[in-house]
Amino acid sequence: MKKYSVILWDLDGTLWDLHGNTQIALKQLFEKYKSSNFEASTWEEFTSNYEIFNERVWALYREGKIAKEELRTKRFSDLFDSVHAHYTPEFVSQFADEFLFICPRLSAMLPGAIDVLQAAQKDYINVMVTNGFIEVQGIKMESANIRSFFQHVVYSEEAGVRKPHRAIFDLALQKANATPDEAVMIGDDWEADILGARNAGIDQVFFEATEKRLDELTGRKGGRHNYSPTFTIASLIELNQILFEHGTERESN
Ligand SMILES: [Mg+2]
Repeated sequence: MKKYSVILWDLDGTLWDLHGNTQIALKQLFEKYKSSNFEASTWEEFTSNYEIFNERVWALYREGKIAKEELRTKRFSDLFDSVHAHYTPEFVSQFADEFLFICPRLSAMLPGAIDVLQAAQKDYINVMVTNGFIEVQGIKMESANIRSFFQHVVYSEEAGVRKPHRAIFDLALQKANATPDEAVMIGDDWEADILGARNAGIDQVFFEATEKRLDELTGRKGGRHNYSPTFTIASLIELNQILFEHGTERESN
């Protein structure tokens, strides 16, 4: 088995429980404003619509089609339209501010995340590579107390490009002083993490939980990928075999 020396980690939906923490923050705000703004909606509709619109705006942001400020508010104005909410532009902005205050301060991690980060300290250089906003991602890492696990953190806002752009992976390798074949990227986003790493010549571990949930939510068909990642996992526990058990044969592509 090829032994890697560097792990490139995605944060949201890979280590930090984006879905769980988002639901907690969103529920607080839904309850707060339910009687004044959202009386036409149920919580179930509100949260599942949010996830769909949020995913859409992040895809647009990744492709450089919308700016950060628009991403911040558009996911909520789209959501509010879809649930026939009463709102003004000022309310959208205030809601977005409150959400971005509450959510990153929540600290739920995905099952197995802390254990695998701890175990990876011994054998690997760990690099965080994230498309999230600098000010937000920093708070998340502090809240979850995981910043010290990473020798380097590469923010797309600092790199000037976002995953899946090759330059951000090149920068991460440069910081770790590694070649592409010494590294493996672990992430939950097919385009940003998996195709991005592949284009940079880096092996990939596709954590498919987020995509499975979105497939279910949107009724879209799974299995639409025409490329097999180096590894696919359904839970972080499976990383043990990939990262720490020597002599295991790698899956062939
Ligand atoms: Mg992610």
